Amino acid sequence: MARVLSREAALARDRADPLAARRERFSLPDGLIYLNGNSLGPLPTAVPGHLARVIEQEWGRGLIRSWNPPPTGAGWVEAPRRVAARLAPLIGAAADEVLVADSTSVNLFKLLWAAMRLRPERPIVLAEAGDFPTDHYLAQGLAALDPRRQLRCVPAGEIGAELNERVAVLLLSHVHYRSGARHDLAGLTARAHAVGALTLWDLAHSAGAMPLALSAWGADFAVGCGYKFLNGGPGAPAFLYVARRHQSAAHNPLQGWFGHAHPFAFSAEYEPAPDIGRWQVGTPPILGLAALEAALTVFDGVDLQALNAKSQSLAEVALAWLDGPLAEAGFELLTPRAPEARGSQLSLAHPQAWPLSQALIAEGVIVDFRAPDVLRLGLAPLYLRHVDVYDAMARLHRLWTEGRWQAPRFAQPLPVT
Ligand SMILES: *Cc1c(COP(=O)(O)O)cnc(C)c1O
Repeated sequence: MARVLSREAALARDRADPLAARRERFSLPDGLIYLNGNSLGPLPTAVPGHLARVIEQEWGRGLIRSWNPPPTGAGWVEAPRRVAARLAPLIGAAADEVLVADSTSVNLFKLLWAAMRLRPERPIVLAEAGDFPTDHYLAQGLAALDPRRQLRCVPAGEIGAELNERVAVLLLSHVHYRSGARHDLAGLTARAHAVGALTLWDLAHSAGAMPLALSAWGADFAVGCGYKFLNGGPGAPAFLYVARRHQSAAHNPLQGWFGHAHPFAFSAEYEPAPDIGRWQVGTPPILGLAALEAALTVFDGVDLQALNAKSQSLAEVALAWLDGPLAEAGFELLTPRAPEARGSQLSLAHPQAWPLSQALIAEGVIVDFRAPDVLRLGLAPLYLRHVDVYDAMARLHRLWTEGRWQAPRFAQPLPVT
C-alpha cells in the first residue's frame, strides 16, 4: 500500500474506511485525539443509558429480585456468562469456554495455579523477560506458595529454545504492552504442546483489536482486560478462557461460593461447578458487567479482519511521519514493522519521552508513557480516523521542531503515567 504523506491522502483513506461509521458509537470529546484506547477505551454511547436503566430499574425497583433469571428477575446471576458469550466471538472461543469475572490479575492467579497443577512434576513457568509486571509478580507469588515452582524469564527470541520437558506453563502476553510486538500465538502454542507444556496467554493488548482464534490455535488458557480495546470502562471486569478439554480437570484455587455447583444450597463442602462457572469467586460486579455488556455492542457486525487491516493502515500513517519529517528527531521504533508482528500500537523510545508525552497531551493528543523512555501511540481501529493519526503526528513534529516540550511544567512527574 502506498505511504500516506499528505493530509488529503489520510482523508481519502477515511472516506474508503468500512468501519468509519463506528466512530459515531463513541462519545469522544470534541477536538481531542485519543491515542490511548489501548489503556482505557473511550465511552461507548450505549453505556450511560443502559447503566442508568440497570441502576434505576433493576437495582432501584427490582432490588434483590433482580438476581434471578427472567421473568422473575433481571438475570444478574447469569451476567458473567451472558457477557462472556458476547465476548467469545472476539477471541475465537465457544461461549462456554469464556467467563467474565474479577480482574486480569486475579484471573491470571487462578489459571496459572490451575495450569501448574495439571503438570505437577514440572517446575518451570516460562515467560518473557520484561513482560507486563503483574503477570510476573503473580507467578513469583505462586512460586513462593509452592517452592517446587520457579518463574524463568528469557528474551523473546529464546522462548522456543527454552521450551523443554521441565516447563509446565508458557505464560506470555500475546501483544507486548511496551513494544507492541505480537507473538505467533498458534506457533508458540504448538511448540509448547510438542514438549508437553501448557499455554496461558494474556490478551490484554489484543482482544478487541484483531481477530483471535483461541480454539483453533489450540490455546489452553487465556485472560484479558475489559477496559482496554473492549471499552468496558475503568476497572471493568476481566475475562478468562479455559479450553473445553481442560474444564473438568482444572481447578480454581480461590474456592468461593459463586464457583460452587450449587451456591444457594449453602452446603458445608465445596463442590466446583462442572463448567466454566467454577472460575467465579464471589458476587459478580453487576454494574461493571452492565457497562461492559453495553460496550460490547459496538462490535456487533464488525469484521475483525477489517479491524486489523484498519489498525495497520493507521500505523502506516504514523510510520510515514516517523520515516519522513520526524526521522531526525531521534525516535527509536520499538514496534516491529511487519504488520503480522505487531499489535495495535506504536511504541517510540526517546530520551525525552516523558516531557514529549506531557506536551502532546497539553496539545490535545492523549498518548501515554511507559518508564523509562517509551512514548506509546495506541491506534484503536474502531473509532480513530486516519486524519486523527496524521494530525497527531503533525503536532508531535511541530512540538519537536519548536522545542515547546522543553517547558519546565512538562518535566513534572505524575503518579499515573
Ligand atoms: C493492562 C494489563 C493488565 C492489567 O491487569 P489488571 O488486573 O486489570 O490491573 C494485565 N496484563 C497485561 C499484559 C496488561 O497489559
